[in-house]
Amino acid sequence: KETFATIKQRDQKLAAFLTLNEQTALEQAALLDQNGVDPENILAGIPLAIKDNIVTKDLRTTAASKILENFQPIYNATVMDKLAVKQVITVGKTNLDEFAMGGSTENSAFKITKNAWDQTKVPGGSSGGSAAAVASGEVIGALGSDTGGSIRQPAAFNGIVGVKPTYGRVSRFGLIAFASSMDQIGPLTRTVKDNALILNAISGVDPHDATSSTQSVPDFAAGLDGDIKGMRIAVPKEYLGKGIAADVREAIQNAINTFEKLGASVAEVSLPHSKYGVPVYYIIASSEASSNLQRFDGIRYGYRAQDVKNLEDVYVKSRSKAFGDEVKRRIMLGTFSLSAGTYDAFFKKAAQVRTLICRDFAKVYRDYDLILGPTAPTTAFGIGEDIDDPVTMYMNDILTIPVNLAGLPGMSLPAGFSNGLPVGLQLIANQFDEQTLYRAGYAFE
Ligand code: GLN
Repeated sequence: KETFATIKQRDQKLAAFLTLNEQTALEQAALLDQNGVDPENILAGIPLAIKDNIVTKDLRTTAASKILENFQPIYNATVMDKLAVKQVITVGKTNLDEFAMGGSTENSAFKITKNAWDQTKVPGGSSGGSAAAVASGEVIGALGSDTGGSIRQPAAFNGIVGVKPTYGRVSRFGLIAFASSMDQIGPLTRTVKDNALILNAISGVDPHDATSSTQSVPDFAAGLDGDIKGMRIAVPKEYLGKGIAADVREAIQNAINTFEKLGASVAEVSLPHSKYGVPVYYIIASSEASSNLQRFDGIRYGYRAQDVKNLEDVYVKSRSKAFGDEVKRRIMLGTFSLSAGTYDAFFKKAAQVRTLICRDFAKVYRDYDLILGPTAPTTAFGIGEDIDDPVTMYMNDILTIPVNLAGLPGMSLPAGFSNGLPVGLQLIANQFDEQTLYRAGYAFE
């Protein structure tokens, strides 16, 4: 009840939620109260918010798109079933850029979420609703999804902890597909330890997702003792070069000093192909999106145009009316990149450069435990500032995207403030080494 009272008050200003699950949540809470909870189960009764591109049985799931405005899923995403086992309570569904395409949450078909620290600024995106809800204290944790930075960048803009796990660590079953070779679900929280506890609950192989990994899942919350003596940290010179705002660079420099004081060694390295990350990502992600979004045909789900003469009319009118501009831009770009005449020059070339980006990282992890840099080149920008300039908006992802292309785990955590806005520090570990992220993050925070 307290959670809902807080949300109703603060969300007038923030607009973080699209749907509240009040009645069901209160019933679940009453039931837990009656039956008692397993004292070993640390997440029992904890209210969490869920990004609205994760399907929730009987609870409206929109992906912030008009095409799914009234979609009531008949099944749960695997992460939701896992949270239910832990007796977590879903308080509601949070706003995002339509189909998770964007970095400011301004591409939602329904509302514009505000930054928790300054309501003239964007909360980042695409998990902007989840990040604002956590940073404002509406909830203590939320799930987001990250295809090119959508957990880490909003976490940075709101001064909280966000983790994109290794590709395959968490099942994507029931995550509305954007770019299937990069999409991952992960937690947004105020502390590193809370984050580890939630990742513990949602990780693991899933028969419903053939790309989920059979790697064993360690206890991410174990071994958080603040001792990182001897940890070898690499700072890519491309991550502090031109294009990175001076205030962000200064905060990251301070963070480097802190890590050295904690006993880590820090050295400069190079990720020479990371500069191609943004173009490679926008070709691959859009190609996969154009394929994934074919299923929204006006028949199987959601919105269907009424004034139609034939089948093609159903497709064209439903999709023209119910997809937003950014989604259409990506479908066109992706369809173009995959076409017979352009495939070799675009999609295939991007896939090849992706391999070079992966190799850059693999080389660094031969000698280092962790990569460190900023999460985003700037602090949160103003609402309306970049929305008409897609390329500027895309460049904001330059530091997060290579991590998705290589399938690595990444964390953003608060590293101070500049002009009242949080600066995000990004840590990147080798595949399936989330433990190192959590150990380093815990020592730093
Ligand atoms: N901002 C990036 C994009 O627009 C990343 C989005 C995401 O991670 N879902 O595609």
